[in-house]
Amino acid sequence: MKCPNCGAEIADNSDYCIYCASPVQKAPKAEEVAAGAEKPERNGFVTFWLWFIIVVQVLNIVACCAGLFSDSFRGYRVDDLARVMFVGGLIVSIVNLLGATQLLNWKKSGFRLILGMAALRAVLGAMTMADGSASGMMISLIGPFFGVGILWAVLQISKNGRSCWSMLR
Ligand SMILES: [Zn+2]
Repeated sequence: MKCPNCGAEIADNSDYCIYCASPVQKAPKAEEVAAGAEKPERNGFVTFWLWFIIVVQVLNIVACCAGLFSDSFRGYRVDDLARVMFVGGLIVSIVNLLGATQLLNWKKSGFRLILGMAALRAVLGAMTMADGSASGMMISLIGPFFGVGILWAVLQISKNGRSCWSMLR
């Protein structure tokens, strides 16, 4: 490396220049820079909300599995539509669970997964609306996005002046 004071070529790990005796400040190593970088912090309520979502998804996964296999352990016959709903609920909950876990790890992709599942639920809900009434259609289309809207609002809560949302990668 070069001495920052006189420009002479000196050994890489020198503390002082052997030519002009000026102290040499070493550049921090890449991993030291990464470790010293500001660690993202989130508001406690945001963490609570993400864990709340995870718990709800786990409960729904258990409920869907219980529904799917209820004909074998209760002798109850599950019809085909119910089976489709249980499988759909299972897939949506697993993806939502993954999404919440990604958000806990500061990945914005988690929000996109949850938003995608809301869109899927809206489409499936509208398709399976039995009566096809306008108000029922509206509820099944907009309903799934309420949860995503609340999640988005919760992610705006900041800690140390920075919202969780702005720190997602
Ligand atoms: Zn020097």
